Amino acid sequence: MQPATWQLKQQMCELGHRIWLRGYCAGNEGNHSARIGDDHVLCTPTGISKGFLKPEDICVCDLDGNQVEDNPVGRKRSSEVLLHVAIYKARPDVRAVIHSHPPHATAFAVAGIPLPEGIHPEAEVFLGRVPTAPFAMPSTQDLPDSVVAVMDEHTNTVLMGNHGSVSFSRDLTDAYYKLEILDAYCRILLLCHQLGRANVLSPDENAQLLQVKQKFGMDDPRLECAPRGCVGEQNDPFFASFDVRPTTATCSCNGGDVATAHGGAGDADPSEALVASITDQIMAKLQS
Ligand SMILES: [Zn+2]
Repeated sequence: MQPATWQLKQQMCELGHRIWLRGYCAGNEGNHSARIGDDHVLCTPTGISKGFLKPEDICVCDLDGNQVEDNPVGRKRSSEVLLHVAIYKARPDVRAVIHSHPPHATAFAVAGIPLPEGIHPEAEVFLGRVPTAPFAMPSTQDLPDSVVAVMDEHTNTVLMGNHGSVSFSRDLTDAYYKLEILDAYCRILLLCHQLGRANVLSPDENAQLLQVKQKFGMDDPRLECAPRGCVGEQNDPFFASFDVRPTTATCSCNGGDVATAHGGAGDADPSEALVASITDQIMAKLQS
């Protein structure tokens, strides 16, 4: 049953505090919303830290983004409510949307590197494929248009180019979990990058994960890419950023080669590079 409106407002305030504490939104950044009934949403106001919201700060809008009730303390709805209502319209099953700027995930959106797949079970099961929308100007219709264009019925999280992320789900808590899992996963990936290596799961392991996910009632279209799933199709840009080793796609759909490990320094023989460098210097001396 949908919580009463007042309870939802309280939940939005508590959630804002968690988002702020985790550093997902600095200053006045970010906004989140919850659907009430079929055609209205509760939305955070503009120009205020999401860490210290009070229930009376929450605004009420229709699905065109118009504020439909006078706010008791004079708050105006976030201009990014356009993003929220576009997602509610595109996906009737969605009842909560959180837009924020989680630093580790946003780094991928700024670098223009698609989120790699087939690496971590939590990300595979609870996020699935996370598309990246191209940059669009905030507070314009271009922003929701760019996000909705990369969504399908299975999407629950989108990276927004040079901007941040948006997570959405059946309720506020689940949408927030997706945000936390997203940024934790991206933090792990960046730490792997510092270590110079990341192993990917085998196609069979990925297929098993997707089957477990299906048992939980979460369909993943990658499982349809029989027989072992098509996880990892967008991995090359991330592994190319390790800058030493060539990478191999992990998708098994076309019977191609499968690699289970990617990375740089771990695969290279440093003595070979040293010998090559010394040889080059000797040859240069001899020729001078
Ligand atoms: Zn933003």
